Amino acid sequence: MSSADLRDLYQQVIMDHNKKPRNFHEMSNANHMAHGNNPLCGDALVVYVKLNAGVIEDLSFQGSGCAISVASASLMTEALKGKTLEEAEYLYQQVHNQMTGEEFDASSLGKLEVLSGVKEFPARVKCATLSWHTMHTAMDNDHDVSVTTE
Ligand code: ZN
Repeated sequence: MSSADLRDLYQQVIMDHNKKPRNFHEMSNANHMAHGNNPLCGDALVVYVKLNAGVIEDLSFQGSGCAISVASASLMTEALKGKTLEEAEYLYQQVHNQMTGEEFDASSLGKLEVLSGVKEFPARVKCATLSWHTMHTAMDNDHDVSVTTE
């Protein structure tokens, strides 16, 4: 596949996740949650986590934002369900590095590789990492907290 074809494919996956976000709902039995805001773009998401003995049993989100922020959140919920906190932390680091041009473990990313194109648009990195930062903050707190990029 040429790199142009690959970029088209990534774009399609992102558009699909924006149009039909996965795990897009409130979670009444969540034991961790956080609000995330990216004022530069107007993205505002809530991430809900059900953590049980160090494993992410369930993960969902709600809110509104640009295509990149919604698609990234949707992809994140798919990727992290069933993962341990350590695995989630590791993936968070890889995704972050992928988008900021640092070294990362490509074999760990799977579908999350579609977010790699974001690094060509530095202004959108905050859109793409918003849900991940929010998830990270949610894990560290057992009550609702807010995070703002910047
Ligand atoms: Zn955005």
